[in-house]
Amino acid sequence: MIIICGNAGKTQIDKLTEKFQADGFRTHVSQGTETTIIGLIGDTSKIDVEDVEAIDIVEKVQRVSEPYKLVNRKFHEEDTIIDVNGVKIGGGHFAVMAGPCSIESEEQIVSCAKAVKAAGATFLRGGAFKPRTSPYAFRGLKAKGLELLLTAKKETGLPVVTELMSLEHLDLFNDVDVIQIGARNMQNFEMLAEIGKCKKPILLKRGLANTIEEWLMSAEYIMSGGNENVILCERGIRTFETATRNTFDVSAIPVLHHLTHLPVIADPSHAAGKSALIKPLAKSAAAAGADGLMIEVHPNPSQALCDGAQSLTPDAFSDVMADVKKICELENKIF
Ligand code: PEP
Ligand code: MN
Repeated sequence: MIIICGNAGKTQIDKLTEKFQADGFRTHVSQGTETTIIGLIGDTSKIDVEDVEAIDIVEKVQRVSEPYKLVNRKFHEEDTIIDVNGVKIGGGHFAVMAGPCSIESEEQIVSCAKAVKAAGATFLRGGAFKPRTSPYAFRGLKAKGLELLLTAKKETGLPVVTELMSLEHLDLFNDVDVIQIGARNMQNFEMLAEIGKCKKPILLKRGLANTIEEWLMSAEYIMSGGNENVILCERGIRTFETATRNTFDVSAIPVLHHLTHLPVIADPSHAAGKSALIKPLAKSAAAAGADGLMIEVHPNPSQALCDGAQSLTPDAFSDVMADVKKICELENKIF
């Protein structure tokens, strides 16, 4: 970390460097005529840049290393492979999580689970607790929905992924294989810290308007609690564009692979908002090196209680999978 001080006397600089040395850092001072630069050597990830900038003699602070450590590839070169009851994600293993936006009935979730499994999905997704913009919209079957999801898990053997919206419900998630933290909770720091204490794999979706660094800091929250099983999911971000529900940030995939060892999957459904766009976006994600996909599939999209416009029929999903498999072969991914 580089700390730029302006118009400071030697006594003030000495006082500041002694403070950092007392905190365990080594310091390197470079004295100019008008500016003094202090180089701080050590693990600066716990330092808040704004706190340092608030010191009267400090003009500017510049990080030379990232503020996250546990998720950082610099300290963990190999890809993390997450093993969910034998189904792997990351490090060359491609996983596909498919199913309806929300669980609506036993018939719907079980038939959907069978269909996505037949088409090659390796996980069943389905929302029981739904974050909806309108309080009057269908907000999921809640505990009953989780029960139905577990019935579908039993019938098909597919591991299941579903969203946790409140820590109050955590006890209900014992048999859920992967806990999803949705876009709207990506910066619910209390929640992140708490789920960091469990060992279950966490699917952390990117916030609606969050930078990659903020997203990685959220993953750091979970990892710093002791849970190393974090999967990142790019699901589109808000931009000025209105032709799609969100803007799919495909570049986030290679950027993340460079910055972190954690697996990265993509959700073209929430990015696009339109079923016709799922195939090209899913293919682009696989070609960009994603470790998997999350895709919404509904047996009858026009009757779906949530996100029907972006949901694929089982046949359309099968068609997408056929192309994704070809790209995985090119990418040397096991799928
Ligand atoms: C979902 O996966 O059903 C969902 C609500 O996604 P997001 O949090 O990305 O909007
Ligand atoms: Mn949805």
